[in-house]
Amino acid sequence: MKYFSLQNKEHVVSFEDAVVQGLAPDKGLYFPERIPAFDQHFLDAIEKQNDLDIAYTAIQPFVGNEIPEAELRRIIADTLSFPFPVEKVAGNIYSLELFHGPTLAFKDVGARFMAGCLGYFRRNDTRPVTVLVATSGDTGGAVAHGFYNVPGVRVVILYPSGKVSTLQEKQLTTLNGNITALEIAGTFDDCQRMVKTAFLDAELQAHCLLTSANSINVARWLPQMFYYLLAYKQLKATHPDVVFSVPSGNFGNICAGMMAAAMGLPIAHFIASTNVNDTVPRFMQSGKYEPHQALPTLSNAMDVADPSNFVRILQLFANSLPALQQKLTSYSFNDKETAATMEKVWQEHGYMLDPHGAVGYLGLQQYLQQSQQTGVAGVFLETAHPVKFADTAPASLQDKIVTPDRVKSLYNLEKKAVQLPDDYNALKSWLTAN
Ligand SMILES: *Cc1c(COP(=O)(O)O)cnc(C)c1O
Repeated sequence: MKYFSLQNKEHVVSFEDAVVQGLAPDKGLYFPERIPAFDQHFLDAIEKQNDLDIAYTAIQPFVGNEIPEAELRRIIADTLSFPFPVEKVAGNIYSLELFHGPTLAFKDVGARFMAGCLGYFRRNDTRPVTVLVATSGDTGGAVAHGFYNVPGVRVVILYPSGKVSTLQEKQLTTLNGNITALEIAGTFDDCQRMVKTAFLDAELQAHCLLTSANSINVARWLPQMFYYLLAYKQLKATHPDVVFSVPSGNFGNICAGMMAAAMGLPIAHFIASTNVNDTVPRFMQSGKYEPHQALPTLSNAMDVADPSNFVRILQLFANSLPALQQKLTSYSFNDKETAATMEKVWQEHGYMLDPHGAVGYLGLQQYLQQSQQTGVAGVFLETAHPVKFADTAPASLQDKIVTPDRVKSLYNLEKKAVQLPDDYNALKSWLTAN
């Protein structure tokens, strides 16, 4: 498969180049040259296939012959080494739980798949490569765990001091080995600015080989299709009609689902549920794309005002708003509604939501009410384990959130981070000296 830049269709690269570069030199996102179609027999018998074969069938056309079959299967097995259960919450409402991975959020899948691809592509290159990434919380942990112990790769993560949750900080700062956490005295935007400056700094690049593990990388974006295929497989016998509500920030996850649908997976409708950062819900009404300043919310992994992957969704629909409206509805919810939903769903159904999942639940509920569909199964994506956001959960739920055994020990590990000021030169000196 070849990929073109969404800024310039003439700029075409291989899968390997798209993965290694992340973004095209013209700053365009890479997009596959054609959309593969699932074989009807594959979809008809999907419930009889194992998860790894399903994932291989879905991703193989996007990789082509650039990674040999055995190697790609190994990467997939590594990526999907935990379950993706669909749990009934109430009536026809189901939760697709994406938090059973090592860092308790769905970003584990994309990060692990990308780490596997990058590790393979760099197999004959002995120069060490530095993966440089800024995080507001979930990305950093997923990238750190995904790349942990990958030979020839060191990971440097910038995070804003005091602005990530306790558990998120532990996930970033306790692995050590080839992972270093830089604790920046600034905001997430400051961290992001420092990383962007590093990628434009030729003098630094002459000194160390930098790559990004940004969420726009095709190797992080595309494997997210697996969620939708695996959920469809679980529901197909009882619920052939499914709609998905996806709590959305940068719109990578939902865009992967819409790609699976474009390939033929029969998904009736998508709901993009956002917090008050509502650029897309407003666009779906007005056709005007007008980002405001990003606002902080309880579902902070979705505090994105200008979602980078939305251009990929538009591309899937040939930039036609009416065509997109047939397949996608988008709603926005505030923190008050989010917290009230977490409390209500716990009281009425005994199911503990995290704030992101709560936004997804709200969007699903609103869509099912408005569209008055019967016989449809509604699935919201529960994108993180509630314990990740326990610090800000409603007081009535605080002591009800259960910490999974596999992360309990993290709280006792010592945090190791390098403190740096919000200053690009400090980052540059550190990268050149270490
Ligand atoms: C990153 C993240 C999101 C948003 O996903 P996008 O693909 O950026 O839309 C939602 N929920 C959680 C918990 C996340 O970490």
